[in-house]
Amino acid sequence: MRVSDPVNTVVIVGGGTAGWLTAGLLAAEHRSNEKSGLNVVLVESPDVSPIGVGEGTWPTMRTSLQTMGISETDFVRDCDASFKQGTRFSGWLHGRDEYYYHPFALPQRFHEIDLARHWQPHREKVSYADAVTPQPAACERALAPKQITTPEFASALNYGYHLDAGRFSKFLEEHCVEKLGVTHILDNVVAVNAADNDDIESLSLGSGESIHGDLFVDCTGFAALLLGKHYGIPFCSKQEYLFNDRALAVQVPRNSPDEAIASTTLSTAQGAGWIWDIALPKRRGVGHVYSSAHTSDEQAEADLRRYIASTASEELSESCAPRQITFSPGHREKLWHRNCVAIGLSGGFVEPLEASALVMIELSAKMLSEQLPANRAVMDVVAKRFNDKFLYHWHRIIEFLKLHYVLSRREDTDYWRDNSSPRTVPSDLMESLELWRYQSPRYQDLFHADELFPAASYRYVLCGMDFETEGPDERRRSDVATRADAESMFGENIKRTAQMLKALPTNRELIGKVHEFGFQTI
Ligand SMILES: Cc1cc2nc3c(=O)[nH]c(=O)nc-3n(C[C@H](O)[C@H](O)[C@H](O)COP(=O)(O)OP(=O)(O)OC[C@H]3O[C@@H](n4cnc5c(N)ncnc54)[C@H](O)[C@@H]3O)c2cc1C
Repeated sequence: MRVSDPVNTVVIVGGGTAGWLTAGLLAAEHRSNEKSGLNVVLVESPDVSPIGVGEGTWPTMRTSLQTMGISETDFVRDCDASFKQGTRFSGWLHGRDEYYYHPFALPQRFHEIDLARHWQPHREKVSYADAVTPQPAACERALAPKQITTPEFASALNYGYHLDAGRFSKFLEEHCVEKLGVTHILDNVVAVNAADNDDIESLSLGSGESIHGDLFVDCTGFAALLLGKHYGIPFCSKQEYLFNDRALAVQVPRNSPDEAIASTTLSTAQGAGWIWDIALPKRRGVGHVYSSAHTSDEQAEADLRRYIASTASEELSESCAPRQITFSPGHREKLWHRNCVAIGLSGGFVEPLEASALVMIELSAKMLSEQLPANRAVMDVVAKRFNDKFLYHWHRIIEFLKLHYVLSRREDTDYWRDNSSPRTVPSDLMESLELWRYQSPRYQDLFHADELFPAASYRYVLCGMDFETEGPDERRRSDVATRADAESMFGENIKRTAQMLKALPTNRELIGKVHEFGFQTI
């Protein structure tokens, strides 16, 4: 490829969620279904299945689906999807039955007033999340975030999805191939062929054919075939901060067809990790993610079975066969090198907490699509910006996830004691915690306009974990002036909560109607 040649062909290796989301977002934006559009080719091994976990998304997925021209009705029907409104954390603070919510809805009038400070005097009576948004109350009742008459992708309460990962990849594949013009090749990549300038020139396939491209996207999961194996870009371990490195995952059938469908991911802390519980209409996806340095595989499995037995029958708990997944928490030293960019697990993964992996895929694919280099000459500039942005995102994800652990007051196991030990806490986070004793997180503490986790998310976790920030300052004119405003907002939230609880159907009722009638299209 000469430096002035346009980027005409993008070759994606890997047909998991990362590969198909990247293909779909690129093909939709660059009109691959037209003759003059970008040529998007996806090669996928027939022998290596996608990882098959990753079933909780962020609200960003709504925009991604819309961008690809997908109907929400089709998506809900085909992917056994349900509506997710945040995460309910149980036992993270004391290891008992206590819980808090990190909902997707922003606190009301979040950009105008810091309700966290004004909530402090009420903390014994009402949780912060309950004081500032109706969402936790809706989630406690397994309610949906909207009604059947609400148009596709619109909401009464902000939401993402729970979905069947295996079905989602297949659904995206069909849409990308049939509607968006993506070329799909089922074959193994057996060799990576370099050009004189060290760019990737082509890939050799098991069939003996080779595929040429201008830009290559490594979506090969933990194998990291292009960026890791071919280029040898080092892996940066983050296990000193985030200890979990194994997971046991299992699909649990429903107790009965009309069982309630939880509208949040349930995250229940354990002695050396935590259990996720993701509710789909036909089954639940349950898994225990844990630190192998702090517990044995046998103990982790026993904890998982005990959890399943408490939420399903003893029989189901005994008959299920959990699948073990091992991983190293961390990411590559850079994500884009020469004409190769890694998206998905090939670029990094730290752990499932807060479902940050799929959103990183969406953001990476979006930036790749928006900034698709016009030619090889400008590719290095785009690569540098991409690396700066996504290394920063990794840095902030690690901090935000660690925040959930460091605030715990659990002393019952080494896992929790080690997690709150200052030597395992990133120094920037230590600094921020000091600051947040006197002021709750603000935009100024977060350095970029497009932070992955906004200041609102930090406030939900800090308040949920009983972190004390000084209350309103009686000497400050602005605090006294806003106190009355804040009190009236708390009152408004009580009214809005009552209205929502009355108007919203349950998750199961809404999903039943979507299957029967479908949403209104817009
Ligand atoms: C325990 C666990 C729980 C998780 N939970 C969540 C969650 O709730 N929310 C969330 O956002 N994320 C979650 N994730 C992350 C999420 O699963 C992944 O980000 C997502 O599935 C994307 O995976 P992928 O496409 O990068 O890789 P994979 O799904 O592993 O796909 C790799 C692809 O590469 C192909 N391939 C490999 N080698 C070759 C070759 N030589 N030639 C051709 N093709 C090849 C394979 O065939 C496959 O198609 C979780 C991850 C784990 C480990």
